[in-house]
Amino acid sequence: MTRSDIVIVGGGMVGAAAACALGRQGLKVMLLEKRPPAPLEGQPCCQTRASALTLASRRLLEALGAWEVLAPWAQPFDAMHVWSDDVSGEVVFRAAEVGAEALGWVVPNAVVQAALWQRLPETVTVRESGLAALDAEAGTVTLESGESLEARLIVGADGAHSLTRRLAAMPLDSHEYGQAAIVGCVRTEKSHENACWQRYISEGPVAFLAMREGWSSLAWYVPLTRLEETLALPDEVFRARLEAASGGRLGRIIEVDGRAGFPLVRRHARRYVRGRVVLIGDAAHTVHPQAGQGVNLGLLDVAALAEEIGVDTGVDWACTGALQRYQRRRYGDNLLVQRAMDGFDSLFDHGLPWKRPLRQAVLTAGRTLSPARALLTDLALRGRWA
Ligand SMILES: Cc1cc2nc3c(=O)[nH]c(=O)nc-3n(C[C@H](O)[C@H](O)[C@H](O)COP(=O)(O)OP(=O)(O)OC[C@H]3O[C@@H](n4cnc5c(N)ncnc54)[C@H](O)[C@@H]3O)c2cc1C
Repeated sequence: MTRSDIVIVGGGMVGAAAACALGRQGLKVMLLEKRPPAPLEGQPCCQTRASALTLASRRLLEALGAWEVLAPWAQPFDAMHVWSDDVSGEVVFRAAEVGAEALGWVVPNAVVQAALWQRLPETVTVRESGLAALDAEAGTVTLESGESLEARLIVGADGAHSLTRRLAAMPLDSHEYGQAAIVGCVRTEKSHENACWQRYISEGPVAFLAMREGWSSLAWYVPLTRLEETLALPDEVFRARLEAASGGRLGRIIEVDGRAGFPLVRRHARRYVRGRVVLIGDAAHTVHPQAGQGVNLGLLDVAALAEEIGVDTGVDWACTGALQRYQRRRYGDNLLVQRAMDGFDSLFDHGLPWKRPLRQAVLTAGRTLSPARALLTDLALRGRWA
């Protein structure tokens, strides 16, 4: 039996950040990942999966030494344009309005993950294996390779379909939106102007997020029933449909690379802690991605967990209340963001005619009330929601 202070299941962006943060506190960490990332060098600027990172996420990645290595792939955006096809006017959130350098940075997920892996401290040992079994009370883990591990804490960072969560019998609330996001890399006729562009139409939002080398990261929301058919469209037809959905705002769609689809599901574990098991990132919660908050929330989980258990690294955290404090700090915040995303989803649902004047009122208020706009921008940037 190999003993560590902490076993982290899953070395995606959130699990790798947790390994860096906890390992830097001098804790002996075992990181399990069944599919380790490709090396950073040679990764393209535009990849199918990318995330808009907030200032709060950037600060954490800086503290972990990962930002400096991923910076060449990070595209800052200084404005976010939001409008709806059935009402007039648009809201423009600008970094300058809150005295910030940028509203966020768009980075391929694989780059963030590889940068964190490059910065894993010596206190972290990696096992390239999947999880097979665990005992939440005893703090023991069995790997698919047959190896047994023991730890004071098991961190479940194994994503939305978390096996850690299931094996620890932690209940989950979930809601299927009946919607899917089509992602990919897009080249448009007009420049993205280092901005993000989000248009709401009857099917859902369609968004272009500025990336490096003139590419944009696409998030095009379609009814789930139309996902397969849309993904299978011939390139020319796909581009024409996307151009129509975006209202031609960035001109013709010249190229779409690496399209893929993701059914959208909101999930929230009813508790983040059970015995010696604690959940972080998508293992604990998934949100509607229309405001690009998912991994940012996961990185805030990492910061809170590292702070709570770092207060005293030598104790048995399962008995001290540190894990409960972590849960208290993060649960409400994550729930609030989920509710806010559902609120947007409902507001821009074109199905009910009475919502149209409401949309008009909200967009007009967003355009004209600069203090409200600045407050929203500031909250999103700093990741303080509750
Ligand atoms: C369309 C779309 C757009 C998005 N855009 C944004 C955005 O702009 N900004 C943003 O903040 N978020 C965004 N998100 C959300 C973001 O992608 C996720 O929140 C983020 O990827 C979660 O990271 P994670 O590390 O928690 O989980 P994952 O990325 O799922 O990583 C889990 C890791 O665990 C490993 N693993 C799984 N099971 C096991 C096992 N049994 N044993 C060992 N290892 C295992 C996996 O191989 C993987 O590496 C978006 C999501 C979608 C669907």
